[in-house]
Amino acid sequence: MTSWIVVSDLDGTLLDHASYDFEPAREALDVLVERQIPLVLATSKTQAEVALLRRQLGVPGASIVENGGSIVIDSAVRDPVSGASTSAGDGVESIQLGPEYAHIVQRLAQLRREFSLDFAGFSDMSDEDVAKETGLDLPAARRARDRMSSEPIVWRDSEEALERFVRALDAQGFELTRGGRFFHVLGRVSKASALRVLLEAAISKRPPSEPQECQQILALGDSPNDCELLEMADVAVVVPNPAARSPLQPREGWRLASAPGPTGWNEAVLDVVGGSQ
Ligand SMILES: [Mg+2]
Repeated sequence: MTSWIVVSDLDGTLLDHASYDFEPAREALDVLVERQIPLVLATSKTQAEVALLRRQLGVPGASIVENGGSIVIDSAVRDPVSGASTSAGDGVESIQLGPEYAHIVQRLAQLRREFSLDFAGFSDMSDEDVAKETGLDLPAARRARDRMSSEPIVWRDSEEALERFVRALDAQGFELTRGGRFFHVLGRVSKASALRVLLEAAISKRPPSEPQECQQILALGDSPNDCELLEMADVAVVVPNPAARSPLQPREGWRLASAPGPTGWNEAVLDVVGGSQ
């Protein structure tokens, strides 16, 4: 028996890069609900941002937040991937995989002083500053600043200084990833490493008596930081993002969605899982 798991990036993939709209993907989202196919979100967004979005999307599943720094699952889940629950309750549990936010912010302040670097992190900004940088409204900016395990930064220094910064971060066990709008500083974690943790947790929670299902992964993304995730998938789809500074190039065997954002997402998901079962 084969069942699908859909793993998807949000910004520029399921959500429109500029408007954050996902309504053009509604038909595919409804098919996922109808066929009980879980949707695992893998994003640089925070738990607070994803919790609201999850309710609007209406498809159950776990969430990989802050680029793999943490995983969020329902507290009463039987299966952390699908979100299938054995008891009532809407509590959520988060699993921290990377270093604590306070630790990251403290190290960044040290590096800025030590190397005289010019950058601003979300912890240096107000809700108003973040709203201005992102185009989000104030409550949404507040949710974006409610962080657990990664720090988005706006780089204001030279390319040479950036190289020095990356080397210094690496020496201290941190990584810098480039998202659609910001750089993100986080521990040695990724969307892909978090997905591996999630899949192992799901398998370990499954009763041995249950028939073994062959789970196939459909992964969708638009940025280089989705690349490793797409490499883990049985079917990988690159959603084109004309606004991205460094777009993700499809590799051999990968599909390219026919349109950017939720329109391309909708068509690709329907094409893969929407056919006859
Ligand atoms: Mg993206």
